[in-house]
Amino acid sequence: MNLCHRFTGSELPTFGNVATGIDTARLGAFVDKAIDREGTHCETCRIRNLCAGGCYHESYARFGDAHHRTYHYCSLLRQWVDFGVGIYADIQRHNPGFFIRHLEPRSVIS
Ligand code: SF4
Repeated sequence: MNLCHRFTGSELPTFGNVATGIDTARLGAFVDKAIDREGTHCETCRIRNLCAGGCYHESYARFGDAHHRTYHYCSLLRQWVDFGVGIYADIQRHNPGFFIRHLEPRSVIS
């Protein structure tokens, strides 16, 4: 099991397999390192809880390190998040029943 489809065939160690399941210790260690923002620009970034340091594969492909921060597209990510949040707020303000009508039914498990 790879972090995502983009890592298939890469040199990055896998995180378990379909026979034995997820290697939770290895995956936990990876995530612990990924969420440690100390000493990075992410520490004070306003979208840090959505971005979480950027795409692991983008970091791996560009820097050879899946934990390397993707500072080269921070401005784009902030604009993208701002756009999404703005659209969400507009829909909530002008069509408040939209999310309940179109999204909540999918979360119902019967
Ligand atoms: S946008 Fe940049 S600084 Fe902010 S959380 Fe993502 S990688 Fe870190």
